[in-house]
Amino acid sequence: MAARDLIDPFGRTIRDLRISVTDRCNFRCTYCMPAEGMTWLPKSEILTFEEIERLARVFVERYGVDGIRLTGGEPTVRAHLPVLVAKLAQLVVPTDSASPLAGRPIDLALTTNGATLTNCIDELRDAGLKRVNISLDSLDRAKFERMTRRDELDRVLAGIEAATRAGLSSVKINAVVERGVNDDEILDLATFGRRLGVEVRFIEFMPLDAEGHWMNDKVVSQDEIVERIAAVHPLEPVPARGAAPADRWRYLDGRGTVGVIPSVTKPFCGDCDRVRLTADGQFRTCLFATSEFDLRDLLRSGADDDALAVEIERAVGTKWAGHQINQVNFVRPRRSMSQIGG
Ligand code: SAM
Repeated sequence: MAARDLIDPFGRTIRDLRISVTDRCNFRCTYCMPAEGMTWLPKSEILTFEEIERLARVFVERYGVDGIRLTGGEPTVRAHLPVLVAKLAQLVVPTDSASPLAGRPIDLALTTNGATLTNCIDELRDAGLKRVNISLDSLDRAKFERMTRRDELDRVLAGIEAATRAGLSSVKINAVVERGVNDDEILDLATFGRRLGVEVRFIEFMPLDAEGHWMNDKVVSQDEIVERIAAVHPLEPVPARGAAPADRWRYLDGRGTVGVIPSVTKPFCGDCDRVRLTADGQFRTCLFATSEFDLRDLLRSGADDDALAVEIERAVGTKWAGHQINQVNFVRPRRSMSQIGG
């Protein structure tokens, strides 16, 4: 069957699929989860590796989706993750797709808190993982513990180092910035990335925390983040973000690049090529979507690929022009970040 693009009502071609493999996490980051009281999905509701592979195959082979990112919760707490990575790494973008990766394996990436990477990064790489993004919001042990509710800074730093040695095509660091919490470390984190030769991507705090304490004045804007870094390490913009979520800057002294994901102050929805699959097989066309499409039940009721494709296309037909953060009609999604898959 010939591949054809999956295009939403605003003309955006879908190329990127984020798959959450679990809603569970070994951290309890304050901007994401409560300290206690999360109700985990029962195992029977979570997609099996075979179900994930089947759905991923439809996205790649029918529609030329060329990038898959595994996330969670914390994806590395799912048992046997390398087995899933090996299955997905086999997927090849159809040669007749308009994707720049046509005829080549998909771009397979992972977002992780890094705490267990020293144990598993080599196995993940051998299974076919290409890229990894590791979350690191503070370099100060006490503050790291306050933010993640876990005293795991050393293990995360060791995980970052292991990832940089593993020979992946890209390692990046994600740092959520929350005013009054870790905005005093913007420069330290940027300097850390420069030293390591790793791009740090600062993320504006989004209203997706389970405890609902997000407020606009806790957001540190992209402009402010860039200004603070450039005051010490002069920067110039890297042109053409394309569909990637981060705006990027180059250090003028040649010591790499830094990025900011300005979801709140400069939404990039106009270029969004992403869709998401939750751990329990619900298909979402936006991080902030308030409706989901149940691919798991369809799959388990014996639907063939044509029936799955009909539902996928129906869902993509509802993709919004953009989220409405900071507007009066903004409605927080029912599920928080760790339950959706960031
Ligand atoms: N556990 C993995 C990790 O820590 O990277 C993957 C899942 S986590 C939900 C994915 C990303 O979402 C992380 O970079 C995390 O910092 C970010 N995140 C979580 N809650 C957020 C929020 N309220 N605003 C902005 N980013 C958030």
